[in-house]
Amino acid sequence: RFILGLETSCDETSAAVLQDGRVILSNVISSQVPTHQRFGGVVPEIASRKHMENITVVVDEALREAGITWNDLTAVAVTAGPGLVGALLVGVAYAKGAALARNLPLVGVHHIEGHIYANFLSEPDLQFPLLCLVVSGGHTHLVQLTGHGELRILGATRDDAAGEAYDKVARALGLGYPGGPLVEKLAREGEACAYPLPRALLQEDSYDFSFSGLKSAVLNLLNRAKQKGETINGADLAASFQEAVVDVLVEKTRRAARETGASTVLLAGGVAANGYLRLRLVEALAAEGRRLVVPPVILCTDNAAMIACAGYHRLMAGETAAADLNAVADWPLGT
Ligand code: ATP
Ligand code: MG
Ligand code: FE
Repeated sequence: RFILGLETSCDETSAAVLQDGRVILSNVISSQVPTHQRFGGVVPEIASRKHMENITVVVDEALREAGITWNDLTAVAVTAGPGLVGALLVGVAYAKGAALARNLPLVGVHHIEGHIYANFLSEPDLQFPLLCLVVSGGHTHLVQLTGHGELRILGATRDDAAGEAYDKVARALGLGYPGGPLVEKLAREGEACAYPLPRALLQEDSYDFSFSGLKSAVLNLLNRAKQKGETINGADLAASFQEAVVDVLVEKTRRAARETGASTVLLAGGVAANGYLRLRLVEALAAEGRRLVVPPVILCTDNAAMIACAGYHRLMAGETAAADLNAVADWPLGT
């Protein structure tokens, strides 16, 4: 079975061909980072227009690289939400047109379910139940998976997502966009205990997260120093910020793994590319005899192979979309 996956929820136009839900034959990613860089963030209207310019080229390239044609495809899976509505619509409209023209089943995929399924691309035979920490640009979730497509949300962020906090701190430090990798790089040269920063909800008996207080603390520190004419060591601040984020993520995940008895824990979303988070999480879980699965970096950030993988499992469960599939900008996970 060959699934064509499409992803256009934010600033990556991506198409992938996946064989039997596990072999990536192609995963073409056209990043719009250079386009949005000078604006310091993603401009929605420009993102939609770029997706329109790119999608046909990216799909053709994905089929060519996979060495197959439209006639070989079994289904089309597309990110239907959440994300930027104009960006999502480009992928959804393309997928609907293609499915109709080629008489193929259509599958609407939740973007975050896609991020989670990147783990099944690295290890197709993972056994349920599983626990997954999702840390992306717009989402922070602790999710228990009891079967394919069976997601139970244990906790979520009450305000900013982890990746969002990284991006905002990067901007305040004048590092640019996307900020996560730049903060991580700078933090390597800094002292993590240099600045005391809050670790919200750490002591609370809940799997929820909150990162806006931490972000504000960093911004306040920078503003106060500026007013007083003092200098702040950017590397120290980046390291202190990262330490606070990772402390909370690791502790909540460790607790959830213990309480749900998960022997295998998954990590998903763009922030899963963070080397320090990976290291700390592996250590904390290994100390209790648990294993961490992390996809390769290219499968952690937005890509269509993960969408094809989640779509494959939805297809196997008989969950196809009707011809009126629509983009849903604020689709909650697990519904
Ligand atoms: P969502 O998936 O929630 O809709 P998104 O698709 O915009 O949001 P992702 O593609 O999952 O986000 O990931 C992008 C995010 O990951 C950005 O916030 C970016 O800063 C962050 N990120 C990427 N690499 C790293 C890193 N090495 N360290 C920390 N954060 C990182
Ligand atoms: Mg992106
Ligand atoms: Fe994403």
